[in-house]
Amino acid sequence: MSLLRITPSSHLVSSRLLRLSIFLLLSLPDSRGKAIWTAHLNITFQVGNRIISELGESGVYGNHSPLERVSGAVALPEGWNQNACNPMTNFSRPEQAESWLALIERGGCTFTRKINVAAEKGANGVIIYNYPGTGNKVFPMSHQGTENIVAVMIGNLKGMELLHLIQKGVYVTIIIEVGRMHMPWLSHYVISLCTFLAATVAYLFLYCAWRPRVPNSSTRRRRQIKADVKKAIGQLQLRVLKEGDKELDPNEDSCVICFDIYKPQDVVRVLNCRHFFHKACIDPWLLANRTCPMCKCDILKT
Ligand SMILES: [Zn+2]
Ligand SMILES: [Zn+2]
Repeated sequence: MSLLRITPSSHLVSSRLLRLSIFLLLSLPDSRGKAIWTAHLNITFQVGNRIISELGESGVYGNHSPLERVSGAVALPEGWNQNACNPMTNFSRPEQAESWLALIERGGCTFTRKINVAAEKGANGVIIYNYPGTGNKVFPMSHQGTENIVAVMIGNLKGMELLHLIQKGVYVTIIIEVGRMHMPWLSHYVISLCTFLAATVAYLFLYCAWRPRVPNSSTRRRRQIKADVKKAIGQLQLRVLKEGDKELDPNEDSCVICFDIYKPQDVVRVLNCRHFFHKACIDPWLLANRTCPMCKCDILKT
């Protein structure tokens, strides 16, 4: 019964659902909510006589980067830091390499600035590694205003690994390839929407399943009246007409419900107002109308 008290009317339920839907729509990200593209990095380097190659989905493309395959030898910024914020920064570009990628540390200036510095020096692509202490964390960089150059971010751990190899004089080449598309905001909202729909369905199911078992007061009253009418009908007199009854006189009234004249062996129901009708005609009539079709007297009041 406690459910009865807290359950609002269906009107209230629908208005609440509408408000919740509008809230969800308004909280959807705008059209700038972009997909994230992962980058596969195929890293190759030589240690002694061994050529080591590793492939991993270890980066993400920047938001303003073309989604293209790019490859080359990896070059570091020259000088005392690795952030390439200074426009004069030179890169330790291996002489034998035709194509090269700049490996730059995050921080010190905007992504746009460091990507443009590398692009101006002729880099074919830029790999930026995240801050120290961020492990393998990456995110799609925002770098509006860069040249049409591929820029990806990799985790700090991977970046440091490459940095140390190159600082030791190892020649490292990388092929950057477009990986898979992720829509983190979409999956977030799909989950929210599914949760919301599941909750709504469960709520409506409970509401509907429970409602018929606890009728409201007007339904209860209607049911009581119907039961009373049935009882009153049962108490009304029944007669079987036989030859000689004055009701069979052709000048007498016929049944006003079916307009048929009365015949011997017809079963008639006699109301308290003394009007009578075929039982088969008057019983359903009384159940529906409660009153005599002739004089309108109420069978519950007489
Ligand atoms: Zn009749
Ligand atoms: Zn009557």
